[in-house]
Amino acid sequence: MNMNGIEIEEDGLSSASLFSKTNPYSYTYDDVIFLPHYIDFPTDSVNLTTKLTKNINLSIPCVSSPMDTVTESYMAVSMAALGGIAIIHNNNNGVDQAGLVRSVKSRRIPFVSDPIVMSFNDCIHSVDDFGDSPCVFVTDSNKLLGVVSKLDWERLSDNKSVKVGEYMSKSVLKGLSSYSFEQAATFLAANKLDYLPLVNEVDGEVMDLFTSDDVERIRGFPKLGAPSVGKDGKFLVGAAIGTREQEKERLEHLVKAGVNVVVLDSSQGNSIYQLDMIKYVKRTYPDLDVIGGNIVTAYQAQNLIEAGADGLRVGMGSGSICTTQEVCAVGRGQATAVYKVSSIASKQGVPVIADGGIANSGHIVKALVLGASTVMMGSFLAGSNEAPGVYESQGGHRVKKYRGMGSLEAMTKGSDARYLGDTSKLKVAQGVVGAVADKGSVLKFIPYTMQAVKQGFQDLGAPSVESAHKLLQSSVLRLEVRTGAAQAEGGVHDLLSYAKKPF
Ligand code: 5GP
Repeated sequence: MNMNGIEIEEDGLSSASLFSKTNPYSYTYDDVIFLPHYIDFPTDSVNLTTKLTKNINLSIPCVSSPMDTVTESYMAVSMAALGGIAIIHNNNNGVDQAGLVRSVKSRRIPFVSDPIVMSFNDCIHSVDDFGDSPCVFVTDSNKLLGVVSKLDWERLSDNKSVKVGEYMSKSVLKGLSSYSFEQAATFLAANKLDYLPLVNEVDGEVMDLFTSDDVERIRGFPKLGAPSVGKDGKFLVGAAIGTREQEKERLEHLVKAGVNVVVLDSSQGNSIYQLDMIKYVKRTYPDLDVIGGNIVTAYQAQNLIEAGADGLRVGMGSGSICTTQEVCAVGRGQATAVYKVSSIASKQGVPVIADGGIANSGHIVKALVLGASTVMMGSFLAGSNEAPGVYESQGGHRVKKYRGMGSLEAMTKGSDARYLGDTSKLKVAQGVVGAVADKGSVLKFIPYTMQAVKQGFQDLGAPSVESAHKLLQSSVLRLEVRTGAAQAEGGVHDLLSYAKKPF
C-alpha cells in the first residue's frame, strides 16, 4: 500500500518461483530479464569486488578460461593487472604449463614481449633481422651479455658479417621484470631511454623488451584498478589440471611454480575421479584452493562441496564452441544452472563461477545476479591481443582462431581427458574449431565492460555483487521470461542498417 492508499500489485516473479521445481524449463541468459528496481547511488560507487574461491578475492568478477586459444601468460598477466584472474590451460605437459605460470609470476606489467635474441657468434645480415624491434639482445644461457641497436648495426662499415658479440653494447641499463608499470615507465623516462631490457630478478634471465611505445600504449588504456596480487607480492594465476593419476605430477610442477589455484577441468565434474582428486589436492596442499566442475545441478554441487571444493565451475553445453548438448543430450540452460547451483553453494560459503555463454555485459550482469561470484569467459576474450595465436585474414576480417578443447583438433594435442576420451579408441568431438574477430586489447574492453556491468547493477539497485545476491534471495529483485518476440524487441530491430559500436 503506498501513501495514497493505492495497492501496488507485486510485479514479475521472484527467482524462487521462476526457477521452482515444478517449472519444466531450463533457461538461458537471453530467456530471462530483470525488472528494474530503485536507484539511490551513482554508477561509480558500484563495487564489483568478489570471491573466486573461499580464499581468493578479486577486484573484478572476470576469469579467463583454460583454453589453448585463450589463456597463456600474456592473458594471465593482463587479467591479473585488471583485477581478475586467468586459468592457464593444460593442453601441454606439466613442465611447459608450470613454465607459463612462472612467466606470469615473474612479471608485474600487463604485457609479454617477444624480444629478438641472438648468441655471441651470430651475425645480423639485414635490417629485417630486427623485425619491429629497435634492438636485438645478445645472450648466453638466457643471460644478457649485451644489446645491438639498429643504429649500432647501421654504423658498421660495409662488412656486415661481424659477429654481434664483437660490437654489441655491453654496458646496458637493465630493469627488473618485477617492476610495476609505473616503476618501469619512470625508469625509462629518468634515464632518457627508448627501450629497456627487463630481466628476472631471481636468475637474471632476459624476459622482456620494454619500450617507450609500450608506455604510451598502456597509458592509453583506461586506468587499471587494484591488480590481483597474492601473498607473494606477485600476480595471482590459476591452472587447469585433469583428474588422472599422472596429473599429480603436473600439480607438483604447478605448485613449485607458485600457482594460486587449480581448476579440475572436466566437462562432467561429478565423478569419483574428481572427488578423489579434490580430496588429494586438499590433503597434499592444504593452502592451495581447488575449483571443482563442471556441474549444473545442486546434487552435483553438494558432492563436490563435501569433497572439499573451494569454488564451483558451472556450465555444461553453454559454451559458444561446445556441442555437448547435441552430442550427449546432457546439460542445462546456463541461467537455470547458475541459479540452481548458487542456491545450494551460497548456503555453504562456496563461490560459483558461471562458465560459458557470456556474449555481452548483460550476460555478465545476469550471471552475477543469479548467484555467481565470477564469470569465466572463452569467446569473449578470444580474438584479443592477449589471446595466444596470430591474427589472420578471413573474408576481409582480422580474426584469431578459437577452438573448443573438445574439438578433434584440440583433443589430438591432449585435451581429450576433459571429455574422458583419452583412453577411448574412438574420439568423438564435443566442440568445434572456429575464429573470432579481432577485439583489440582486454586492457581496453574489459574496463568498458565492467562499466556497463556497473550500470546494470545500478538499474537493479544493487551496489555490490553480494547485495545483488541478497536482493534476489529476498525476492526484492523480480524477473520474467522473455518470449522470442520480446527478445527480438530487446535487441536492435527495424533498422535498414546500423553500426554497433559498444564503446
Ligand atoms: P564461451 O565463453 O566461449 O561461451 O565458453 C567457454 C567455455 O566452454 C569454457 O570455459 C569451457 O567450460 C567450455 N568449453 C571449452 N571447450 C569446449 C568444448 O570443446 N566442448 C564443450 N562442451 N565445452 C567447451
